[in-house]
Amino acid sequence: MARINGTTKLAGVIGWPLGHSLSPAMHNAVYQELGLDWAYVPLAVADEVGLMRLVAAIRSLPFVGFNVTMPYKAAILELCDEVATAAQIAGAVNTVHCTDGRLIGYNTDGRGLLETLRHDIGFDPANKRVVILGAGGAAGGAFVALILARATRITLVNRDVARAEELMERMGLHTTNIHVEALDYSEAEQAIREADLVVNATSVGMLPGDSSPIPAEWITHAHVVFDMVYGTPHRTALLKCAEAVGAQALDGLGMLVCQGAIAIEIWNSGSQTPIPRDIMRQAAQREIDVRASAEAQAR
Ligand code: NAP
Repeated sequence: MARINGTTKLAGVIGWPLGHSLSPAMHNAVYQELGLDWAYVPLAVADEVGLMRLVAAIRSLPFVGFNVTMPYKAAILELCDEVATAAQIAGAVNTVHCTDGRLIGYNTDGRGLLETLRHDIGFDPANKRVVILGAGGAAGGAFVALILARATRITLVNRDVARAEELMERMGLHTTNIHVEALDYSEAEQAIREADLVVNATSVGMLPGDSSPIPAEWITHAHVVFDMVYGTPHRTALLKCAEAVGAQALDGLGMLVCQGAIAIEIWNSGSQTPIPRDIMRQAAQREIDVRASAEAQAR
């Protein structure tokens, strides 16, 4: 942990619950590595009244910025002074920059997804067919990023199809040259079989007993399967199904690291210092391992 003194600036993550967040470990490790006089703290608030009070307080405290996680990525939009277009369309802000007394909202989840796909497995979504499972904040960030990355066909699959259709409507004219559609799971088999990339942006997989959000037989060896779920000691059922048929399978940890690194780049906007993703990843992995061994000892 970096030394905290009278000049230390603050960053943090707002959400509920936050007991399992990897962000404090990941951020504080890289602040120390870079010699940044910042400290990253968990900011747990139980409801939206608490969120409003906290954000009002942050305005008068020495914050460089903060992250926002479940369940407040949509609610925070209204509390920002300005929101980047990509985050508005996604319907989700996960990073806020505190600058000149103003709160500027961004979505770095989608950019984090692209970065990890490109750097970890060399996958470029340009001219590819993509299926996104889910239509919440994480799916919104992925949808916008994959459109900007020039995927040719994007299918949003959600239990509540109206939510997926709303996301498509917010994207509006930006999808002119791209085939986009919103489907229910019962209609999604063909689109999934034909996809190059399948992204799980639902919360299914977070609990150890969760089954795969799609039937195993829809997944082929030709797929890249990306599961946004991260930090669980277990491999998700979706990733196990993908590995069983020889598909490329990636969990959400790399995306978490990249979205966090991009947030620091935004907060540290005056500097050209590259943010070392490897330091953040090692810190997050250490935290996962410590928790897994504590849980194993408790059993
Ligand atoms: P959210 O806004 O609450 O959306 C949840 C989504 O999951 C909705 O589309 C919901 O469908 C769907 N869902 C929930 N239970 C389901 C079930 N039993 N069957 C099918 N669909 C179900 O949450 P979010 O912020 O988008 O986060 C989604 C996941 O992404 C979480 O696991 C989160 O940890 C992960 N995530 C990871 C990263 C990363 O960096 N790796 C970043 C952001 C989020 P309905 O609309 O039909 O209810």
